[in-house]
Amino acid sequence: MSAELILLGVKGGPAIRPGSHMPTSNLVRIGGRTILVDAGLGVSRAVCDQGVPLTGIDLILITHLHSDHYLELGPLLHTAWTAGLTRPVPVIGPAGLRDYWRGFLASMAFDIDLRLADEGRCPLAPLFDFAELTEGTVLDQDGLTIRALRNVHPPIADSYALRFDHGPDSIVISGDTAYMPEMAGFARGADILLHEAMLVDGVEALLARMTNGDDRLRTHILRSHTPAADVGRIAAAAGVGQLALTHMVPDGDPAFTEAHWIAELRKHWAGPLHIGRDGMVLRTGRAGHIRAP
Ligand SMILES: [Zn+2]
Ligand SMILES: [Zn+2]
Repeated sequence: MSAELILLGVKGGPAIRPGSHMPTSNLVRIGGRTILVDAGLGVSRAVCDQGVPLTGIDLILITHLHSDHYLELGPLLHTAWTAGLTRPVPVIGPAGLRDYWRGFLASMAFDIDLRLADEGRCPLAPLFDFAELTEGTVLDQDGLTIRALRNVHPPIADSYALRFDHGPDSIVISGDTAYMPEMAGFARGADILLHEAMLVDGVEALLARMTNGDDRLRTHILRSHTPAADVGRIAAAAGVGQLALTHMVPDGDPAFTEAHWIAELRKHWAGPLHIGRDGMVLRTGRAGHIRAP
């Protein structure tokens, strides 16, 4: 049995514009579980578009507390509730995620209380068991192992890469991170490595378009994300089966095409390569089957 990685949103950063991809969310289907990793804007629609009911998500993991990774978490959980969720679902994320959830519940109290009284729904809050994500083993259950590695994403300290192993299937998601050689050890031999990536030339073009940021944004992007060529270096050192790119910066700039990404990646990586697109489905196993969106 193979596992699947579904890229729901592949753009880096919180803003969307006409023609852009959506912020970060991924579905991992492994060992009979459907696991959501990050819940950026558009996640609820994107999950449904894959034929997965919102009530069919078994576990939610949030890699770090940049909004492009959890802005739609509250709306997703609320919508799963109105879609008929009755069993508890674990939500594992960095310290602080519980505060977001409490704040979301408070902001929607009028609606939630109304639906309890007027529609006879079950209480919403107890449906989601929030737990703190820390480095090490996150889950080891029925043959499925999930491990977390603290990555390098300053100024955020609680930011993680995730590895999923079940039998012969393994999937690694880098999360948002600067180049870190330790990622190669964490991803060693994985079927699929999904790694964030930026084109340094494209960052300058993006900053030139910005109307509400200053030089601090340039510093932030360059010190906390991974140049595309270094992503190829990691994949080669790890000996992964397939490499896929996500959290791409820039996104939606016609001056930077797939050819630019491929040119950078091919400096160090000669294996199977997928330039991420929203809705792309990757499968573990030798064939590396891919279903385009
Ligand atoms: Zn991000
Ligand atoms: Zn981030």
